[in-house]
Amino acid sequence: PFEVHVQASSLAPFHAELPGAEWEALQASALQARDRMVGRTFWNVNSTARGGGVAELLPRLLAYARGAGVDTRWMVIEGTPAFFHVTKRLHHALHGSQGDGSPLGPSERACYDEVLRDNAEELLVLVRPGDVVLLHDPQTAGLAPALAAAGARVVWRCHVGCDMPDEEVARAWRFLEPGLTAARLAVFSRAAYVPPMLADRSVVIPPSIDIFAVKNQPMAPEVTRSILGHTGLMELPPDAPEPVFTRADGVPARVSRGADIVRLGSAPAPDSPLVVQVSRWDPLKDPVGVLRGFAQLLLESPGLCAELVLAGPSVMSVADDPEAAATLETVIAAWREQPHYLRQRVHLACLPMADPEENAAIVNALQRHAAVVVQKSLREGFGLTVTEAMWKARPVVASAVGGLQDQVRHEVDGLLVRHPGDPVEFAAAVRRLLVDPVLAARLGTQAREHVRTRFTAPRHLSDFVDLLEQLDA
Ligand code: UDP
Repeated sequence: PFEVHVQASSLAPFHAELPGAEWEALQASALQARDRMVGRTFWNVNSTARGGGVAELLPRLLAYARGAGVDTRWMVIEGTPAFFHVTKRLHHALHGSQGDGSPLGPSERACYDEVLRDNAEELLVLVRPGDVVLLHDPQTAGLAPALAAAGARVVWRCHVGCDMPDEEVARAWRFLEPGLTAARLAVFSRAAYVPPMLADRSVVIPPSIDIFAVKNQPMAPEVTRSILGHTGLMELPPDAPEPVFTRADGVPARVSRGADIVRLGSAPAPDSPLVVQVSRWDPLKDPVGVLRGFAQLLLESPGLCAELVLAGPSVMSVADDPEAAATLETVIAAWREQPHYLRQRVHLACLPMADPEENAAIVNALQRHAAVVVQKSLREGFGLTVTEAMWKARPVVASAVGGLQDQVRHEVDGLLVRHPGDPVEFAAAVRRLLVDPVLAARLGTQAREHVRTRFTAPRHLSDFVDLLEQLDA
């Protein structure tokens, strides 16, 4: 494994954002965490340093914990392509999806165990008895026995799940069981995801976003348009200001890299309403379904002024996701099948990932500029993209699956689509928001408030303090 260094961040900026009592509670949590962890390290282990929700979540939360005086460290395991094939299969299975249908038999088990044995050996040099180790997702579950045997307090956090567990889910749990028996506690994003074998030692902690991260920092509309123009995601408006954002360390920077874009027509005009989905290239995010839903929308409302942007990470960049390139290919193939007028209005963008903060600034601009942000996932543990858009007061359309149902209250702070596979229902929801700016604005305003109270770092940090308490009990 390799370490990703995390800079400490002060909690002070929350002072201006939180009502007095909440600010005091946050400070009390910080003190409690520091006292409890004196002389101990809080390790987090996952499988990728960039791309996807966990890599998004960890650095900011760990930075705040560090700022509060807790020695937090982040390790990323390393594995072979065969290992990541097995873990991607497990990831799909925990979502109740067959994935590519490949087996989870003895040779997959041997491959999984061998890679994790090597990683555990190196971790054991660092981890001391009494340290807390938070292992993330199926990729790391098999590390639990070795770390627990060395005296660490091991917690496994699962960011995926399925509301209606079936045989696929059970198969994944059987695979993971030998590792998970060694975990003292397990953390899930919603109660429905807790499997019977972990029912007596699970807690529910939904994820959060960092409102001060580059991805969520305020941005003037003309800067937003300039960033999108420089990235190639829209026409560069005349007299556009510098495409600047502020790095996490406070230093201003400029967006300089373009996206790889597949499209026929010209870039969207700055005043063209955009329907946007930002996601990894994963079949469970249903990018092809979004394209078909958008086609349905234009079929039913040919005069509607709207364009679709499907954006995801550059496919070369996501080490633990071997499926990404193939998924992008299927989207390109589906795009090629569309009539010319539709291809002109659908834009596929692979966003540059070399500089994570630059990538975050581009995603920020895209979400802010969107007329409607969609997340048409077929399964979703918890969709950070939706919470990010809601914080920006954007109206969202999301599938009524998994954690999205906790994030979006239908007709209150967004619209949920009951049948994720149905392009007609999806198209109708998107149309409602495009043609009714009053509704869109009302949902957006409420969305921001819902995120502020439920899905930001202070709530998450206080849940962690409770977790530490339970772990030491
Ligand atoms: N993301 C990004 N660049 C991309 C695609 C996604 O920064 O090109 C981010 C996105 O903004 C979000 C995270 O990756 O913060 C995805 O998290 P989510 O929970 O939505 O889905 P996951 O990838 O974990 O399944």
